[in-house]
Amino acid sequence: MTEDLVRELELLREFGFTHLDISGGPPSSAAAAEDRGAPQSDLLAELQAVVTVCEKCRLSKSRTQVVYGVGSPNADLMFIGEAPGREEDIQGEPFVGRAGQLLTDVIKAMKLTRDDVYIANVIKCRPPENRNPEQDELDACRPYIRRQVEIIQPKVIVTLGRFALQSLLEKSYAISSVRGQWLDYNGIKVMPTYHPAYLLRNPAAKKEVWADMKKVIAELERSASDSKDGRPRSE
Ligand code: SF4
Repeated sequence: MTEDLVRELELLREFGFTHLDISGGPPSSAAAAEDRGAPQSDLLAELQAVVTVCEKCRLSKSRTQVVYGVGSPNADLMFIGEAPGREEDIQGEPFVGRAGQLLTDVIKAMKLTRDDVYIANVIKCRPPENRNPEQDELDACRPYIRRQVEIIQPKVIVTLGRFALQSLLEKSYAISSVRGQWLDYNGIKVMPTYHPAYLLRNPAAKKEVWADMKKVIAELERSASDSKDGRPRSE
């Protein structure tokens, strides 16, 4: 059995494929793969191989394909949304529909490109008719986004909308009360803001989102200057 195959089987078991049995050693964690010093791109690819065949929830039945995530494997900034819509389900890439175009515009306004950041959703398969994700679906899919964050280790995460925020942090925040305020996820700064789909319905809220993004830009600049000075990246 090759080392790559062993690692893939370990990941499958880590993410709930309990019918797999790898005998001959103690259970290992996905993080163990990281400890072997593999590049982030390899670790993301390994996880993608697992997610692509995932059937942990009912959304696997209706999807065209899994929508895993795109962007830089070592991005400082990560955008996390809710779930793929129709266009994303067809193209296999997050945020490529109308709401996605708006997100791309926001990223450009921050003087970045989609290749500079990493974009993913808390739910990897399209809910039928774009309905809200069910709690058991969010629970089933949560380990994947958390592992993506663990691999990428961004300096800042922007959560887009209620479901992204609530699922990543596993807390029932109201987006209206925490939007624009820094939160924390395992030492990583989290900026909750509105989902671009909400902005399509409420264009006046773009002002608030831009105010949030200005805080994100300032934090990224502060973090970059701390790194140059050799100071720890967050206090
Ligand atoms: S939504 Fe997530 S948990 Fe459900 S089948 Fe797709 S990848 Fe698996």
